[in-house]
Formats: sequence, structure tokens, C-alpha cells
Amino acid sequence: MVCVAARDAVAGVMRTCAECRAPLIRGAAESFGRFAARVCCDAVCWSVYTRRSAEAAAADRFYSLVYPEPTSGCHLWVGVRLPNGYGQFSVAGVRWLAHRYAWGLARTVPPADLNVCHRCDTRACVNPGHLFLGTDSDNMQDCVRKGRFVDNSGERCGTAKLTIPQVLEIRMRLSRDESQRLIATDYGVTRSAIEAIAIGRTWRSV
Ligand SMILES: [Zn+2]
Ligand SMILES: [Zn+2]
Repeated sequence: MVCVAARDAVAGVMRTCAECRAPLIRGAAESFGRFAARVCCDAVCWSVYTRRSAEAAAADRFYSLVYPEPTSGCHLWVGVRLPNGYGQFSVAGVRWLAHRYAWGLARTVPPADLNVCHRCDTRACVNPGHLFLGTDSDNMQDCVRKGRFVDNSGERCGTAKLTIPQVLEIRMRLSRDESQRLIATDYGVTRSAIEAIAIGRTWRSV
């Protein structure tokens, strides 16, 4: 083994693992072509390295879809925009609300039961400095404070991030047994908001 590494080094191809920086050593049964194409010392390093590269590539793609608006300081999402005004970002087949993804990049993945809310009231904004974590009721209180609260069953606030046609659409999707979580992501609301529609706790009048 030492012999093989020494010979490769002499040939000017001594390389190190892209993850842990240990010298790459050709395995006894490994062809030279395979060894030459290998960038990590072992399978563990390879899986960490590929995941890290994929994450970095996704983050680059995310930031390429952000326009920092100089007057407001908002970082406006210029990628896919949902009908409710929130941005959407897809990674590895998973659709994220862009501002939730921004929170994840800047801090940690937001807990599923918490909303990522906007201080700036601009739904397409993904500036982590304009975002805060809140419960459904925080969101409601925020609405009340900003004077947008009408009532719990109306179109304008609270559950209330939704419009009547959207609620009808959601009912149809629920009747087709689509996942509540997926529907919630599509409409930029929490899963519990979709469940509330499913069991008729909200939007009963629609
Ligand atoms: Zn390694
Ligand atoms: Zn903002």
C-alpha cells in the first residue's frame, strides 16, 4: 500500500481527501482510473462531502434568486411566487417556502409547528433580519396589531392567509386524499391550518 502511494506521489498525483484532507491511497484492488477519479478517502467522507456540496450548490442557487431592495432593506424573492405572495424554492424534490428556507440558511431549520413571520409585511421578503418565529396565535396578534383583523372566518386575516377560492381548492385536494403537509406548503400555511379546514373548524361558511 505504501508502495502504491509512493509511486503515485512520484508520478505527481499525490492528492488528499476533499473532506478530511488525509492522503488518498490507492486500494490494492482499485484500478488506477478509479483511484484517479476518487476525491475522498472513504465512503463516510464521500457522503459528507457530497451532501455538503449539494447544500452549498442549493444555497448558491437560492441567493441567485434574491434581489436586495435598497430602500426597504427587503431581500425580494424573484423565483417562483405562490398565489398568496410567498416565494417557493425547490430542493431535491422538496418545496420550501422561500422565507422558511432563508431562516434555515441563516439560523436553523424552523420547527414544523412554528411560522416564520415577516416584520416588514412583505411576503416575498427573505431577509432573515426581517423574519421572526411565531405561533399561529402570534401571527393572529400581529394581524390584529396591524389592523388587518376582521373575523376568524373571513378572507382577510388569520386563517385568513387564504382566499375563498383557495379554500375550495384545498377542500377538493383533501377529498382526493392529498397530504395535508404538501397542501400546507403549496398555500404557505401551517399543516394545522389545513387540518382545521379538513375537520371544519375554520371556513365553515364557505
Ligand atoms: Zn476523508
Ligand atoms: Zn423585508
